[in-house]
Amino acid sequence: MTLAIMGAMPEEIAPILKKLGTYKTTNYAGNKYYEATYKGMNLVLAYSKIGKVFSTLTAATLCEHFGAEKLLFSGVAGAISPKLKVGDLIVATQLTQHDLDITAFGHPFGYVPEGSVFVDADKEMIALSKIVAQEMGKPLQEGIIATGDQFVANEERKSWIGETFGADALEMEGGSVAVVCDALNVPFFILRAISDAADMDASFSFDEFLETSAVESAEFVMKMVDKLAKK
Ligand code: SAH
Repeated sequence: MTLAIMGAMPEEIAPILKKLGTYKTTNYAGNKYYEATYKGMNLVLAYSKIGKVFSTLTAATLCEHFGAEKLLFSGVAGAISPKLKVGDLIVATQLTQHDLDITAFGHPFGYVPEGSVFVDADKEMIALSKIVAQEMGKPLQEGIIATGDQFVANEERKSWIGETFGADALEMEGGSVAVVCDALNVPFFILRAISDAADMDASFSFDEFLETSAVESAEFVMKMVDKLAKK
């Protein structure tokens, strides 16, 4: 089986590459892709760069060019739910694009014709993540993650996203990765560790906690990979 592990920023992928030790690096479509064998599986890793466009390109490349049969995303996010604090983990049940807006035509936010407001993540991997969380003794919240091409550092915008989509966290890549994987029938799993509260202090919190939160997420995703290897 070929498994893709994706992040948006170098910090999100570095802890996993470190764990793998040796890997082959290929330059493709303006990005680096890292391939390794791990516990009988082929892994292909990449960080896409930030935002929906770059993450779309990378997710599609991982699936179509590198033959990924499942995709796991590891990264950081801003919290909407007051229950989520810095370092906490959230697994996406559904993803949406909070900045997709053709409401002028009477459509809901996040919707375009022939698309859907929400895309479901793979239920099997979500179920597996609950087992992993239990085994690691780590609390894991599940919820809707909203994606947009904005670093949200504003209470008003954050509340609006929470109310409009029922979202618990927000970031800049999950929604686009979801659309790609759904269209290509590749089961996907999106995990995020909280780096900030998407409020006026978000950029400071992000800078302070990016690395530690990225490691939290990466460690959890590697435990997921271990479980998938045993299947
Ligand atoms: N510090 C970076 C920019 C980070 S953008 C630089 O200067 O280059 C934020 C990244 O973390 C995105 O990949 C996004 O998915 C995630 N993220 C974390 N907190 C976020 C927030 N409050 N709003 C949007 N994205 C957030």
